[in-house]
Amino acid sequence: MTALPQVDALVTGAGGFIGGHLVARLLAEGRTVRAVDLKPLDEWYQSFDDAHNLCRDLALKDSCAEVVPAAREIYALAADMGGMGFIAHHKAECMLSVLITTHLLQAAVASRPERFFFASSACVYAAGHQADSAVVPLVEADAYPAMPEDGYGWEKLFSERMAWHFCEDFGLPTRVARYHNVYGPNGSWDDGREKAPAAICRKVAEAVLSRRHEIDVWGDGEQTRSFTYIDDCLTGTLLVTRGESPEPVNVGSAELVTINELVDIVAGIAGVELERHHDLSAPQGVRGRNSDNTLVRARYGWEPSVALRDGLAVTYRWVFDQVAARHHVRV
Ligand code: NAD
Repeated sequence: MTALPQVDALVTGAGGFIGGHLVARLLAEGRTVRAVDLKPLDEWYQSFDDAHNLCRDLALKDSCAEVVPAAREIYALAADMGGMGFIAHHKAECMLSVLITTHLLQAAVASRPERFFFASSACVYAAGHQADSAVVPLVEADAYPAMPEDGYGWEKLFSERMAWHFCEDFGLPTRVARYHNVYGPNGSWDDGREKAPAAICRKVAEAVLSRRHEIDVWGDGEQTRSFTYIDDCLTGTLLVTRGESPEPVNVGSAELVTINELVDIVAGIAGVELERHHDLSAPQGVRGRNSDNTLVRARYGWEPSVALRDGLAVTYRWVFDQVAARHHVRV
């Protein structure tokens, strides 16, 4: 195996939504980047000629042993995941992402990077704290006693705990952020893995383009969430990675909305009124979830600040263009 050149950062899952934006941010900082994903390069949401782009299956130990050495910072974002529509029906696939994290951590112990960042999720939080739409924001300790989202959440909780013990036992400087519903352009919008913001932007764009002013909403729409714009997610990721604490911390907006309010905002951006059809049989996840940002503020003097309406305006424009391009092809 030929040794790869030294880089400032390795981004795994670089062909995905957050990974693509992270590569862009690191390159803009003047860093050298190795960008790795399972998907062929022409399927990445974003790719950059300035990065060293590789297509590898990181569930395989040999692939991790190849790409991890000679990277100062490692960003472990690769995972088989998606929105509620995906994770509700692909629990085993989600759990198999543990192979990626395990092999990345093992390779990192051997190569001694300055930092190893793991992208965890609000799905680690125990169900009992999220049963009501009148939510009490989640503090980091609410992950225990454990009863995370079945499948995906269990893998994230196990992997973040494994990262913690790699720090404790092997001195690997691991860092963990629990992302809360990240959204923005250049991500999944129509492949079955899309999350609520992109799905609603797509449905609204389809309603506008077809002039059928109706929309399907999963559940009664009164379930609550907070949504974190990609720029805030990246800022939080870099602060956590380069900070000093190995303990997991929320990276999530505290601007709580119901799904019905999310539809209102996107419809307002699009300038349409829509008749709603609520699908009560669709997967809905927990009833209510918000991020308590006391810890992230105390540690880093920062918390996500992009207003939902502003982030959705950018996201809607991007999703609208994708839907319009598809319509154009079909006409
Ligand atoms: P994404 O699906 O867009 O990106 C993940 C990427 O990982 C994909 O491009 C996929 O091809 C790649 N991948 C999957 N299996 C792989 C393998 N075996 N080898 C190499 N690459 C592989 O997801 P995202 O939204 O960009 O999420 C990035 C990370 O952040 C994930 O770990 C995810 O669980 C976590 N996260 C995301 C959110 C969110 O709202 N987007 C919330 C919480 C946590």
